[in-house]
Amino acid sequence: MVLAYVVTADVLASLVTLATAWRTPAETLAWPLFLLLAGGAVLHLEAAQGIERIREISREGSPHAHMQSVWLFAGVLVLPMPLLVALIAISYLHAWLRVYKRRAVLFRKVFSAATVVLACAAAQQVLGFFPNRPLDVDGPIGLIALTLAGLVYWLVNYALVVAAIVMTNRDQPARAALGNASDQLIILASIGLGSVLAIMMNDRPWLAPMLLLTVLALHMGLLLPQFRVAARTDSKTGLVDATFWHDVAGREIERARRLQSTVGVLLLDLDHFKQINDTYGHLAGDRVLLAVADALKHSVRSYDLVGRFGGEEFAVLLPGVSTDEVRATAERIRFEIASLHIVAVDRLGREQVVAGLTASVGAAVFPDTGTELSPLLLAADEALYQAKSNGRDRVATAQLF
Ligand code: GH3
Ligand code: MG
Ligand code: MG
Repeated sequence: MVLAYVVTADVLASLVTLATAWRTPAETLAWPLFLLLAGGAVLHLEAAQGIERIREISREGSPHAHMQSVWLFAGVLVLPMPLLVALIAISYLHAWLRVYKRRAVLFRKVFSAATVVLACAAAQQVLGFFPNRPLDVDGPIGLIALTLAGLVYWLVNYALVVAAIVMTNRDQPARAALGNASDQLIILASIGLGSVLAIMMNDRPWLAPMLLLTVLALHMGLLLPQFRVAARTDSKTGLVDATFWHDVAGREIERARRLQSTVGVLLLDLDHFKQINDTYGHLAGDRVLLAVADALKHSVRSYDLVGRFGGEEFAVLLPGVSTDEVRATAERIRFEIASLHIVAVDRLGREQVVAGLTASVGAAVFPDTGTELSPLLLAADEALYQAKSNGRDRVATAQLF
């Protein structure tokens, strides 16, 4: 049933593409506009990659609002359908390579792309009812044409995606499939921005890059802080807190189960940290924790998740890695921490350099060491304890049960 639905959407999208490609004369292909929009879409996703990934994870099972609609809807207004399809393909292919890779089911993303193709085709159909291009008319008709096209673009996309979610997640209340209103507002705002971009490209192409910067700034300035609050970050280190880390880890394990992939987990505890506090004071200790948190973030990939479990204990989530890679990452982290030279102010207000830090790490991998989050964490914790009791400053891998 779900499969039939998804395949129908894919086939329809392909048919629409072929039909329009056939009818579009080559001279109407607007290559410069296409390149500008494709460039915007790629740059945007590149700059917002980290945020997009976390938003994607935290919104599993509800429609995902991505701001690529800015470029895609601008495309609806200025590009012929074949180039529009190419733009959609570029946007999704890029997202697949950079954001979703290893953690998304391919056919779902193909389906999403197909819904966007259908939404764009429907919106262009609406525009076709009006005698002039809406971009060329500055009057009530132009406004009506733009608004209708925007609404149709949004509604077709939304309805197709919600239907698919309702069909796949039958155990979840249908309301949840609707997602939250603020996500839909983000899409509507993107459509609005897309319209402005199209108008700008039509009249003043050289000013269009200004909008690219605006979109990027909005995305990073508004969505990221909003997300941070929701994520309950730890104020001392800027890492996510234990609750949020657990949430994400649980989701990643479910995802890995579906994809038959793996998830690595590292638990890390600084060695003799109490001595740092005793020697330099608590403020210096806090400064060291911040530096260690930064080192951890920089020694893993952008889509790995580092959390603070409390005190001087950290957890790292490594989706899609092998046991060897987990060990290698743990060793790299240990090395990074050991090479830190942290300038901190001691109790008497003197600057001190804290160096030679060491850490003990426990590693475990789903599904080899555990098939649920709790046993996996217990195993990693047990390994950490082994690392401590074998002399600290080392990595221990959880034994198979
Ligand atoms: P080991 O782990 O090697 O056994 O020794 P340890 O000294 O690190 O021992 P343990 O992990 O039990 O102690 C953690 C210490 O970390 C206790 C506390 O003084 C310190 N600590 C915990 N949270 C904070 C914090 O937020 N700021 C500072 N400055 N210190 C903290
Ligand atoms: Mg501890
Ligand atoms: Mg410790």
